[in-house]
Amino acid sequence: MVEYIVDGDYGEDEKLAIALGLSITFRRALAVARPSPEAVKAAVGGVWGALLITPCPPELPCFKDLQEAADYSEAYSTPVGYEGPLPATERRRVSTFNKHYLRPWRWARAGEEPAVGHRLLPLMACLYQKLKALDATPVVISDVRLQPRSAGSPDYMVIPTWHSPSEVAEVVDVYLPPLKAAAIALGVLAGGYSAGPVVAIAKARDRLVEELAKLGGYAVVLDEGGDPCQLFERRVVGYSPDQRRYVVDPSLCDRCGDCLKTGCPAVAPTPGGVPQLLQTCTGCGACALVCTRGAIRPE
Ligand code: SF4
Ligand code: SF4
Repeated sequence: MVEYIVDGDYGEDEKLAIALGLSITFRRALAVARPSPEAVKAAVGGVWGALLITPCPPELPCFKDLQEAADYSEAYSTPVGYEGPLPATERRRVSTFNKHYLRPWRWARAGEEPAVGHRLLPLMACLYQKLKALDATPVVISDVRLQPRSAGSPDYMVIPTWHSPSEVAEVVDVYLPPLKAAAIALGVLAGGYSAGPVVAIAKARDRLVEELAKLGGYAVVLDEGGDPCQLFERRVVGYSPDQRRYVVDPSLCDRCGDCLKTGCPAVAPTPGGVPQLLQTCTGCGACALVCTRGAIRPE
């Protein structure tokens, strides 16, 4: 039994990504696609409902029995091949999303693409500000690796899921290249996820981004200029990082430590509690966005 069949006018990897989005909201999906080996590899371990692919990709176990295929996929969190007639679809579950399971994909490993991560800090700070204020469970899927260094393991509740980020490093939930963030997000929405906003951080604007917005999702498009803090007003926004050095005004700082949670290596703790912004500050402005006391401002 499957709940969704993903076919039609999408790229082969895109169909897999949409089906994966459905499966990570605990749906059972069948993709009619010939995805690349890299895309299949990215999906392994990322399945929570079931993800079947027909025709059978050579690198996956192949089943002729639909039920067996779905059960295997669900049990081992992996996509599987299915070779048989296309079945009728049938809904069986309510869409959900369990952030507890997705923790390993949250954040970049230390040392990888630090420049990219750092450049995106203000974007993450913006999203953090917006998402933490919601009484909802946002899902954020990214095309790019982000700033490493998260403090400790976040503590998530299991189903029914509820989580809002408590620091900048907790913003992204899913990063599975080469599967496109917008396509995965489309799957999450198509599966009926409604417990919070579904946001894709996409490298470029394409048809998937437009479709995502039409379906009620949100996207930050990295190759366009714009203000990501406008995300919820505009639904699709660009991103232009600021580039000034920043300083802390000790008379306004109440030593809350929020700016340290950006994970920026240029925000240094001091014994007195007022953080110091180091010479390595690139002026991205993320710490200023996070500081609710207005204690951090451009030099
Ligand atoms: S977030 Fe602002 S108030 Fe809090 S420690 Fe940093 S500078 Fe001080
Ligand atoms: S210290 Fe500089 S580089 Fe680091 S978050 Fe603040 S503004 Fe950005």
